[in-house]
Amino acid sequence: MGSIAPPKETIFRSKLPDIEIINDIPLHTYCFERLDQFADRPCVIDGATGAVLTYSEVEASARRFAAGLHSVGIRRGDVFMILLRNSPEFVIAFLAASFGGAAATTANPFYTSGEIQKQAEGAGARLIITESCYVDKIRHLAAERGVTIVTVGDGPAPEGCRAFADLLAADAGAMPAVEFDPDDVVALPYSSGTTGLPKGVMLTHRSLITSVAQQMDGENPNLYFHPDDVILCVLPLFHIYSLNSVLLCCLRVGASILIMRRFEVGQLLDLIQRFRVTIAPFVPPIVLEFVKSPLVDSFDLSSIRMVMSGAAPMGKELEDKFMAKLPNALLGQGYGMTEAGPVLSMCLAFAKAPFEVKSGACGTVVRNAEMKIINPETGAVLGRNQRGEICIRGAQIMKGYINDPEATRNIIDEDGWLHTGDVGYVDNDDEVFIVDRLKEIIKFKGFQVAPAELEALLVMHPNISDAAVVPMKDEAAGEVPVAFVVRSNGSKITQDEIKQYISRQVVFYKRINKVFFTEVIPKAPSGKILRKDLRAKLAEQFPIG
Ligand code: AMP
Repeated sequence: MGSIAPPKETIFRSKLPDIEIINDIPLHTYCFERLDQFADRPCVIDGATGAVLTYSEVEASARRFAAGLHSVGIRRGDVFMILLRNSPEFVIAFLAASFGGAAATTANPFYTSGEIQKQAEGAGARLIITESCYVDKIRHLAAERGVTIVTVGDGPAPEGCRAFADLLAADAGAMPAVEFDPDDVVALPYSSGTTGLPKGVMLTHRSLITSVAQQMDGENPNLYFHPDDVILCVLPLFHIYSLNSVLLCCLRVGASILIMRRFEVGQLLDLIQRFRVTIAPFVPPIVLEFVKSPLVDSFDLSSIRMVMSGAAPMGKELEDKFMAKLPNALLGQGYGMTEAGPVLSMCLAFAKAPFEVKSGACGTVVRNAEMKIINPETGAVLGRNQRGEICIRGAQIMKGYINDPEATRNIIDEDGWLHTGDVGYVDNDDEVFIVDRLKEIIKFKGFQVAPAELEALLVMHPNISDAAVVPMKDEAAGEVPVAFVVRSNGSKITQDEIKQYISRQVVFYKRINKVFFTEVIPKAPSGKILRKDLRAKLAEQFPIG
């Protein structure tokens, strides 16, 4: 995809000046740069047990765990999978990837065996770190593909698995020095991007350092977080929003991260009160539960100074209701996309600058980056207040999709612009607004659902001859996947049978919510499903859809 260089004024930049970012060092060196100042500060607090690891303990543990991974054969350039709920071990394992020159592919532990296998094979994972309760889903990978399984938790590891604690006991000094290139991949989250199946997003040391620096560094250090902040980590660390904008940003400033294994509103409120949480990174469905819960009024939440929301759209009504509950906190949205490293824009009010926060806005583009809006059909660059596809450029974006140069070329053009597939505009005050999506992706509570993945499963069923999956609006989840299905000749397959068939193969949020039987799936001459037509059909039948 080529593009003509746009005139300068149509490239949008941050209101804050660019900064010098030293991004040719290892990610862990960057995160622990001020370790001498932070050594004894609480770094990771386990919300389940109250146990605290200081900065020096986290750094030393990650170093030892890297040596432990080396002792079982993990080398620079290798990939291992982190299949864990949020936990101190997640943090240690991820940082160990950086120390060891390896890449961590992060996956949802609730995935089915098939989903895990697809990601592990696609990423070329040689080792999987998980909890004992998930081992049955991956045992066959050990037997058939020689994958090493490492389990966290007390007591002996299940048969055939290695104990996390044993690797953690390795001698860090025994590990040989690791060669390093800033463009080595360190994180490999999966995303379907603008089209097709989930793909491994190669985030390098350079891209993640740049992204964290865009959020946290500069002449106004700790733009968003302060060293005495307690940052809630309820969003799953396997998603880049939490991994980058919660964990890495926290480490960079020397704040404390309070880890919650899973979201439950009562427990969340209790933790906020007990640990005097100051920063709450949320997604809109959590904000919604927060607003609806009668429990909120019985807790002291006055410690919260800032609530961030991202990963999915949040309307003005919800923003207003939420602010009524927490009148002293700042609420602002950020806009991210895994492939963009992930942060494209952030609310500037967090920076304590005198900028007004507009309802529904996703902040302004991050510093050291460029944003433009284009006409998706012609590629022409659009001006302020004109709606089009949002594109971003900068050292923070991904290096590409693993083993998929074609998909990479389709999303990053030859001038280095990442085409997001999101439709939005930039207003007179540089605020970014997202209004629609060109891409296929469905977002259930901020989790990605790739229609192509469900369609591939549907058409494998002998009683289904064709299928298309599109999003339908849903109050609690934001969106849910629904399927249009063409039955095979003579088949009487029912909605329930189809739903069950899919449910057995996918994690809960990818389950099909409704099935509409149809004679034909509308397609362009190229064979591409005309999703817009199906979405329009839905909107007609279900006015909120
Ligand atoms: P992911 O790669 O899972 O982070 O998903 C990225 C996509 O989520 C973006 O391309 C948007 O479509 C959507 N998204 C992220 N943040 C926002 C936001 N603040 N408002 C609306 N949509 C968002």
